Amino acid sequence: MAVHIVWFRRDLRLSDHQALAKAIENADQADDTILGVFHIHPALTDSFTVRHDYFYETLKAFVDHTNRIKFQVVFLYGELEESFGQLLSSIDNVKGIYFNKDETGFGKTRDDAFESWAEQASIQTYSFIDHHLHGAYELLKDDGEHYKVFTPYYKKWRQLGKPESWSIDEAVLTKRSAQQSSVHQAGDEAYKRIMQQKTGKWKDEAGEKAAHDYLATFLEDRIESYEKERDFPEYDGTSQLSKFLRTGSLSIRTVFHAVQEKRDQMHNDAGAETFIQELAWRDFYNMIYAHYPSSHDKEIKEQYQGIKWRTDEEHLQAWKEGKTGYPLVDAAMRQLNTTGWMHNRLRMVVASFLTKHLLIDWRLGEHYFAERLIDYDPASNIGGWQWAASTGTDAVPYFRIFNPYRQAERFDPHGRFIRSHVEELKDVPTNWIHTPHEMDKDKQKEYGSNHYPAPIVNHQRARQRALEAFGGS
Ligand code: FAD
Repeated sequence: MAVHIVWFRRDLRLSDHQALAKAIENADQADDTILGVFHIHPALTDSFTVRHDYFYETLKAFVDHTNRIKFQVVFLYGELEESFGQLLSSIDNVKGIYFNKDETGFGKTRDDAFESWAEQASIQTYSFIDHHLHGAYELLKDDGEHYKVFTPYYKKWRQLGKPESWSIDEAVLTKRSAQQSSVHQAGDEAYKRIMQQKTGKWKDEAGEKAAHDYLATFLEDRIESYEKERDFPEYDGTSQLSKFLRTGSLSIRTVFHAVQEKRDQMHNDAGAETFIQELAWRDFYNMIYAHYPSSHDKEIKEQYQGIKWRTDEEHLQAWKEGKTGYPLVDAAMRQLNTTGWMHNRLRMVVASFLTKHLLIDWRLGEHYFAERLIDYDPASNIGGWQWAASTGTDAVPYFRIFNPYRQAERFDPHGRFIRSHVEELKDVPTNWIHTPHEMDKDKQKEYGSNHYPAPIVNHQRARQRALEAFGGS
């Protein structure tokens, strides 16, 4: 009897899961079994942010699912190799450990170290590119170099065939489930602890079922108008799938193929095509981070590595709290603080505002997003921040500084999004909604905006300061 171990990490689902599918395929002897493992590192519980809260809720949904179908998943707690070592010493005849690997950041370092440890211990590992449609080293330019610019990358990306989904028969998982009786007490206790920590706020928005519901609703109601509405935060115009893709409760292949299928039935496929292009950005940033591993704290473009960022705690705090006096920026930051998500257009606006208008280091913004986003993905976040700060490979040129007033007039022309997130402005009429500080004091009182702050920087002067700082670099 051989045991095939599937190590689940940020791929908390049972459908379209490559590592799991391979374990099932390899468990081909009559008495072969499959054991799921989830490892909890002590550092995971050092802090508790909204991202942890959401992740734990996803983990719970996953564990409930495995319990329902009686597929055994054990929890390990402690240093990675040590806890795997303990597990392996309690099981006879482990045939292999299967996992979907990370190509960047902390995950890559962990996976590389684990693979060398396993090799030394003569344990077979099987690892797969599963989080992305195309891995970081799959698409190269004709000269063999990696891409730096999105448009030619996308041209190639769109032409290439995409991996098929993996079909998983849950009945086979039930039948093949391991029946380990040895107790991993520290793992069970750690799981209980994190379950007690979570608030329950995300119950209806986490896990595989919620993910598939979101996808179905998006395909049914919004994909046709995605092209037109996706830039307007007042509409629920985007898919809001990022949190599911990040935790892996939804497979990227499932999303891609569902959208392709829908596209083939659509009269006008512009929405579907634009959406598919967004999925390519996700692969692109993963590729960029893999090739620029120090980009998490270093500007990719060397000429901007010496920018003199301002240290201004008060302005940073005002930005974080949504109290800059720029209504769209503030509405966006309050959306982030209250919902754990922010609309893409607004991520660009607030990142530009922090790095250009306030001339505050993009790393501080990146870190704040890491604390606050439930869909926090290092590659996309670093990519987005370096784009906005003009320091990335394919970034907005430094002299094209977003005008926050103009962005607000274009993308929230009636101020409906602003009003829904900035309580102090909820009664302000449309002609003042983007510049409430220009109303006289009596009007501000009349509309209840007298406690809303005046702009913390003057747009023109801030713009000039940024041009000088970047232009001089
Ligand atoms: P949709 O518009 O429905 O797009 C579908 C999917 O495509 C998204 O779920 C996402 O996986 C992918 N996608 C869309 N736009 C991008 C993009 N520009 N870059 C990479 N992937 C994209 N995305 C994250 O998932 N995590 C982050 O931490 C993150 N940080 C960002 C920080 C900044 C400063 C910026 C400008 C963008 C960031 N993005 C991040 C990208 C993008 O804003 C989000 O993916 C998107 O808003 C998620 O909402 P959605 O699922 O409704 O997107």
